[in-house]
Order: sequence, then C-alpha cells, then structure tokens
Amino acid sequence: MQTFDPNQISVPTGHFINGALVGDAGAETMAVRRPSDGQVYAQLPLADEALVDRAVEASWKAWRSSDWARRAPRDRARVLRRWADLVEADAPTLGLIEAVGSTRPVRDVMAWDIPFTAEGLRFFAEYADKIGGEVAATQHSQLGMTIAEPYGVVGAITPWNFPLVMVSWKVGAALAAGNAVVLKPSELTPFSSLRLAELAVQAGVPADIFNVVQGYGHVAGDALSRHQRIAKMTFTGSTRTGSSIMATCAQYGPKPVTLELGGKSPQLVFDDAPDIDRLAALIAGAITGNAGQVCVAGSRLIVQRGIAEELIERVAAHFAAHRPGPTWDAEATLPPIISASQGVRIDGIVSRAKEAGAIVRCGGSFADIAAARQGGAYYLPTLLEGVDGDNPAVREEIFGPVLTVQTFEEEDEGLLLAAHECYGLAAGVHTADISRALRAVRKLEAGTVWVNRYGRSNDFVIPTGGYHQSGIGKDLGRQAVEANLRFKSVLVDFAVPV
Ligand code: NAD
Repeated sequence: MQTFDPNQISVPTGHFINGALVGDAGAETMAVRRPSDGQVYAQLPLADEALVDRAVEASWKAWRSSDWARRAPRDRARVLRRWADLVEADAPTLGLIEAVGSTRPVRDVMAWDIPFTAEGLRFFAEYADKIGGEVAATQHSQLGMTIAEPYGVVGAITPWNFPLVMVSWKVGAALAAGNAVVLKPSELTPFSSLRLAELAVQAGVPADIFNVVQGYGHVAGDALSRHQRIAKMTFTGSTRTGSSIMATCAQYGPKPVTLELGGKSPQLVFDDAPDIDRLAALIAGAITGNAGQVCVAGSRLIVQRGIAEELIERVAAHFAAHRPGPTWDAEATLPPIISASQGVRIDGIVSRAKEAGAIVRCGGSFADIAAARQGGAYYLPTLLEGVDGDNPAVREEIFGPVLTVQTFEEEDEGLLLAAHECYGLAAGVHTADISRALRAVRKLEAGTVWVNRYGRSNDFVIPTGGYHQSGIGKDLGRQAVEANLRFKSVLVDFAVPV
C-alpha cells in the first residue's frame, strides 16, 4: 500500500443500530482528530443514556426474536466466515478508515490489522460448532448434562490502540457463542468499527445483533456497563477503567466481566541468548511497534551483564534508525502518539524518570517533524539506563516508545527484577538453555510468556490475558468462547413412568 492523501478519505459516522448508521439530531458531538497531524476530520455524535438504552433494548429484542442464538452453530459460523471474507475484500476502504484515524501505519494495517481481523473472525467461526457440554450417568436411571448457552446481550468496550483487531476478538467470540453485542469503541478511534458493522450486516448478521454506540467512557461506557439487559461485559483498556467497570458490574448485577488491562512487560535476556542481531531487532520492535502503544509492549529490558552493552548498543541503533511520520506515509516507520495530551504525559514520565536518576541513552524528546508542528505528537524511541525498581519509568505503564534497562548477574536476580508489583500481562525470555527458559516460564507471573520470540502472529488458539492487575479472563482461544457462554445443568430421571 502506497502513501495516501488523508484529505481524500471520508469516514462513516454515527451510531449503528438496526443494521444502519444512525445520526442523532440535536445530540452533543465531539470533534475527532487525526492522531498523525491533530487535524479535525469528522464529528462524532455522543450517546447519552437514552441512546445506549435504545441500542441495548433493540439488541435484546433481536436476540430474543431472531434465530441467531438458536440456529445451528454451523450457520452462525458461515456468517462469520463470510464477514471475514468481506473484511479482506474491503481492505482498500476499511484499511484507510483505520489508518487515517488511528496510530496504525497504513503499511501495517494492510499487512497485519486487516488479515488479523479477518483471521480472528474465522478462528471464532471454526469454534462455533465445537462448543460442547458434559454428560454423566449420575445414577443408574439418571442422566446429568450441561448445555452451553449464550448470555444474551454482551456489552463490549474497546481501546484506541488496535481499533479493528480489538473489536474483532470481542465481537467474534461473543457472536460465535450465539450472543448479541453492543459495542462502545474508543471515542478517539470510533469510525472503523462502523464500517465493520456494515460489513457484518452484509455478511448476514441479523439487524441489531451487533450494534455500536459512540461516546465518552464515563457516559456511554458507563451506561452500557450499568444496563440491566447487559448480561456480561467484556473490556480492554487501562487497569483503572477496568476496575471501575468491574465495580459498576458488581453494583448493577452482579454480572461477569472479562478484563484485558495494562502491562509493564519485561524482556529477560540471558548471556547465551541466540543471534544477537535478531534479538536486538526483536527487543527494539517490541517497544517501537505502534510507537509502544501496545498492551504487551516489552517495556523493561532486563539483561545479564555479559551481553548487556553489546545488546543495548544494537537496540539503540535500531531506535535511532526510525523515521517518525504520519500513518499515511508508507515510508515512515514510527507512528504518532494517539493525542497531544498523551504525548505530554509520556514526556512527563520521562522527565520524572530523569529526576529519579535515569540516564537517557537515546531519544527522550519529541521528534521535530512537519507533522508534529501541525499538531501530531511524535515521541522518539527512548532508552533509559541507570534506573532501579522505584523509578517511575520502570513502575508506570508509559504506553509510548520508552524502554528501561536494568542489568543482573545471577538468574534469580534477573527473575526478581522481572517481577512487577502490580502488572503481569506478558514477558519475554531469551536464552539458548531450554531448562533455564522453562524455569523462568514457571517463575514469571505473567499471562503470556514468549521464549526466544515476542508478540503475536496467527496463534489464535493460544489465549491472551493477564495475571494480577493486568486482567481477568482471556481473549482468544477456547477460553474466549467459553467466557461468552453460561452452562445450564440438566438432570433427567428416565426411570419415572410417564
Ligand atoms: P481507557 O481505559 O482510557 O479506555 C478504554 C475504553 O474505556 C474507551 O472506550 C473509553 O471510552 C472507555 N471508558 C473510559 N472510562 C470508562 C468508564 N468509566 N466506564 C466505561 N467505559 C469507560 O484505555 P485506552 O487509553 O483507550 O487504552 C490504553 C490502555 O488499554 C492501556 O492501559 C493498555 O495497556 C490497555 N490495553 C490492554 C490490552 C490487553 O489485551 N490487555 C490491549 C490493548 C490495550
């Protein structure tokens, strides 16, 4: 995909209810800015409680009256597969809507986000008819069984960092299990999910089985979480918002929640790690991809002393080679930070880190490029040395391209540094010694541990989710489908004469 002109891209706007885009005359609106240059490119109507109620009630009615939940799972699977095909075919439109309004570079959207979105839908389609229950002959003349059933209407709230992919994981799993979904995407990246919903209807998802409401988290997101017809909530975003949604779900339910939250993931590198060139590229890529705005960003390098200097030098060289630029510039390699205020927040943490003793090996400031002067926020890949566990850059999720470095001598010391006081989303272990790798895997308190690799490709069957304050429950894998099901116990006495 080549560089494109952002001013030529028009985006769908509104909410999505009853199979169509819905405006909301008289509603409050929000100016949505392109992260790449800070320019306003569309207005978004903001749902209030009444509009959220309308969308949820419509979904609930559709779920009760349509055959979506009752039809043969293979029929639902067929619809989801068709949806995946449409997503791929629509890449020239859907992909540019995603690239223009998010931090995802057009090159990555076409190579990764679109295929990943489609494959995610296909993965859940393939699971739809593999959902089974248990059967037991509890006594001689009795039979017990469990039947997996959908909840009804699932509420989904998603973040801005991978708008399409996050939606496909949550909506794909919920629909495959026979639920309806009402989604509230991030107000910063609201438009691609509308196009996705249009494609869902084209694929055969019945009207109102997948609705989208737009708006602020504390208004529309909160109204969704509180709604009596929402039987289950699934959320991806910050730990603080996840906690608040869980409290709301406890108060207005209780109803189950799946929470995919923040992280501060370590990259634990031992002296014997294979192929230092490949490793340096991997470590750098794990914190510069999407400018570090990735929940599983490998943000803490914890490296054994023997290899430390050589590795740091190579990682710094990768950092320095980046070319920041707008998402529509196919030559750019480092995308913008989502907003100016988020850029200021990142810079603030780096300043506090320096006050606490951090030494800036490279980066540590905004990039001075034309797009930045127009209003985009670009932060240079930053390497911070001389930090201890109390340094703000080590403790806080930065959500930017900032890597801290700590060194160690002994294996146990490295493992101790890798542990984080509250997060446990992911970790990388790099060593040629399989026994050491497996020892580390068992000791690391993280929901995902990568050994000699980092990041996800098409391994949807392996779930993703966090330990500790990084989350509850899983997206992807069998667990994601099961999280969208409740299990009814049925006990039959067939010896009773009738
Ligand atoms: P955020 O928590 O600020 O917002 C996420 C969503 O929640 C948005 O749609 C927002 O409107 C909504 N929201 C905000 N307040 C709400 C409230 N009171 N009630 C209901 N909804 C509310 O997160 P963000 O800044 O969009 O995303 C970045 C965060 O997401 C990071 O912490 C990152 O680690 C996390 N994240 C986690 C994963 C994962 O899989 N674990 C994946 C991506 C992002």
